Amino acid sequence: MTGINIEPGAHGEQVIRCAWLVNPGAAPRQNVRVTIVDDSVAEICETPVDELSQVAAVALMPAFVNVHTHLEFSRLSHPLSPPAPFPDWIRAVVRYRSANSDGAPFTADSVRAGLHESHAAGVRLVGEISTTEGGVTALQQALEETGNAGVSFRELIGFSADQVSAQLDVADRHVAATPTSDISGSGQDLVRGLSPHAPYSVHPELFEGIVDIARRATAPVAMHLAETIDEVELLQSQTGQFVNFLQSLNLWDPQILSRGTTSLRYLEKLAQAERALAIHGNYFGPAEIAFLSRHPHVAVVYCPRTHAYFGHTPHLWQRLQAAGAAVLLGTDSRASNPDLSVWKELQFVAGQNNVAPVWELLPMITTTAADALGFNREDFKVKVGNRFRSVSVPCECDSESRLNAALIRSAAATEVSL
Ligand SMILES: [Zn+2]
Repeated sequence: MTGINIEPGAHGEQVIRCAWLVNPGAAPRQNVRVTIVDDSVAEICETPVDELSQVAAVALMPAFVNVHTHLEFSRLSHPLSPPAPFPDWIRAVVRYRSANSDGAPFTADSVRAGLHESHAAGVRLVGEISTTEGGVTALQQALEETGNAGVSFRELIGFSADQVSAQLDVADRHVAATPTSDISGSGQDLVRGLSPHAPYSVHPELFEGIVDIARRATAPVAMHLAETIDEVELLQSQTGQFVNFLQSLNLWDPQILSRGTTSLRYLEKLAQAERALAIHGNYFGPAEIAFLSRHPHVAVVYCPRTHAYFGHTPHLWQRLQAAGAAVLLGTDSRASNPDLSVWKELQFVAGQNNVAPVWELLPMITTTAADALGFNREDFKVKVGNRFRSVSVPCECDSESRLNAALIRSAAATEVSL
């Protein structure tokens, strides 16, 4: 059998027989029978010999977590161009936003479309960067429609001193808003977080103020950091492409940043929050890696296909992991990525040389990722007692030695709906 089949059992239960069960950080299990009662996993066992003909040629995995995306770009069919120089890509993003500034309906529609695309690709928990109140509302509605959970990181931007106080007000209001109703019965479905956009777009006082608000509200924080070598140069010496970019927007003031500023300084402040995501970290050096190894509540988000789109030097995610840092995978947005499948991000990574097998990478889009967003990591395993929330991929493979290669080349992951 090639497609997943959910059979009714003798006592009203539902039964799935799959060629492989692949859980994060665990050895894969072959020919597994999963019994589901009232949407919860009641039993996982070896498929009895007389039922082997009913085993579907699929690998079953827990639902995924995509810790970093910007769903407002979900109506794009192709990434925005040019990918380099990076400030020109930012200009393309700004143009796209203003071309669709007829406003809220377009953003809301894009956020909803993106969340539904994510859901169909097996994502059950998403870390979304929200740029407007309408975007937050649209996310909330889409979470209710899909039964997903999410963190709305409210984006704050303001490089000049006169923008600081208004942006801090936005941050205050966002985290103070009432949480949404508990739709699934398993806790809050929408958590409110904050996102100081990046060092080149956020005044240092605004950044510090945002982290202070997040700390008081125990809200998670997400910040793009060390994304380009130009950003590192801007911080270090206040020269380079970002100076030209900020001058062209009449935002440049050489007094805003101090000479010798580093990404590490931002990480040290982010570490004051209960949880933080350092998005990209493409150009972290030894000092940042050493700091992150001691502060795993600040997790690095590697966005593999976006990273490749921009042509960066190889990401140090393996070095970070080996040092003890938390590393997660994210899709980023359709402005720099072809789709919103976090499974494809994992396949992209797993297909590179000298990389651990898929099941050892899986925590980066399940358990460890959930933990980084403040959700229960154990919910992102297929195990007895858990609510059944699962993903399958076609997998024609009868030996563990060939399983990793089969998973890397498998077709798209799809949610398994009961
Ligand atoms: Zn991003």
